[in-house]
Amino acid sequence: TIGLLGIGKAGEIAGACTTSGLAFKMHGRVGDSPIIGGAVFCDDEVGGACATGLGEFVMKTLGSFLIVELMRQGKSPQQACEEAVMRIVKRYKYKEFQIGYLAINKKGEHGAYAIQKGFNYTITKNGKTQVLESASYM
Ligand code: ASP
Repeated sequence: TIGLLGIGKAGEIAGACTTSGLAFKMHGRVGDSPIIGGAVFCDDEVGGACATGLGEFVMKTLGSFLIVELMRQGKSPQQACEEAVMRIVKRYKYKEFQIGYLAINKKGEHGAYAIQKGFNYTITKNGKTQVLESASYM
């Protein structure tokens, strides 16, 4: 999944995601990308979040919605992404899959966290672009 989050000049929050789908998926499987709150969720009052990785776990926890709600309660984007990953990690013993979350809040702060190493993301702010690697559980 490729997720995009943005803040407009008037503070509007926008988000979108695509999906590559899942290799060897069951015919008719619906992934997390078309599920609002799954692979992407935005709220103009708070911020936005998006996800990549094994969509079943993102959907079961409504991860992007969860992150936005955690930010609404006062968590930073980084803390919210970590909590959403840890909900999955604590619940399922098998962890040989990737989930990566990215979030921004209205102040323009961002955070990211993944189960596995190698979750990279790009931030563009004031015309300057940086490629960052998120922290990870493993
Ligand atoms: N999240 C997608 C899915 O499970 C896979 C991906 O594109 O990362 O359908």
